[in-house]
Amino acid sequence: MEIKIKRSHCEELQEYNVDLENVTLLTLLNHIKTKIDPTLTYSHGCRSGICGSCAVRVNGREQLMCEYKPSDGDTVEPIRYATVIRDLVVDSSRVEKFNRTGLAWSETSREENISEEEMERIQTQSDCILCTSCASACPVYAVNPYFIGPFALTRVWRYVNDPREISSDAKIAAVQTNGIWDCTLCGECVPVCPQNIAPAQDIRMLRSKSGMMGYNDPTMNFGGGLDFGAPIF
Ligand code: SF4
Ligand code: SF4
Repeated sequence: MEIKIKRSHCEELQEYNVDLENVTLLTLLNHIKTKIDPTLTYSHGCRSGICGSCAVRVNGREQLMCEYKPSDGDTVEPIRYATVIRDLVVDSSRVEKFNRTGLAWSETSREENISEEEMERIQTQSDCILCTSCASACPVYAVNPYFIGPFALTRVWRYVNDPREISSDAKIAAVQTNGIWDCTLCGECVPVCPQNIAPAQDIRMLRSKSGMMGYNDPTMNFGGGLDFGAPIF
């Protein structure tokens, strides 16, 4: 099998011929690294689709290396809109940056029981493994690097939708700038998610909740809307 890989030290794709079939991309790259080219650099962790550290783009689509089975002629590149450290390894600090901007975590929860039905409502978003495949697929980053983006917004919806959360209002306020209104609802983030999460749908829900709280799309001229302030970073 021939596979082409984007390396960080040259513009051209580097080709490797590997005598392996029906293996994961991670197994194939491990073979290249140990038998052919020890300089090839990539990141991985759990090898079972849980840690989210091995996302790359194959033929222009985001995949987890530990789950994807490559075919002859595949092209492998790092995920988009992240600084490449080396070859297929990117700077993952954007995860923290976007989660921090959107307040995408539980700061303080009420001490109360949560029903099974309520738990089910937030389970899907809780399964996010922060692989950032959705951010790589999102076209907004081509024009706005400050966009809080699909994975952080999905997490915001998860916490806003959690009856134990006491800072929902602050979270809704935090995603008004470079957040929910910057999303085009194109849905590109949905099919690439290995956890079957639909960030576009969660962003719709955040918009709806925002509307109920008196926020408006700042690109629409409703007159007298709330002042969302300057970008946070
Ligand atoms: S739906 Fe929104 S968040 Fe998802 S890819 Fe499109 S613009 Fe990005
Ligand atoms: S929402 Fe899906 S694609 Fe996005 S970071 Fe989480 S698991 Fe990955």
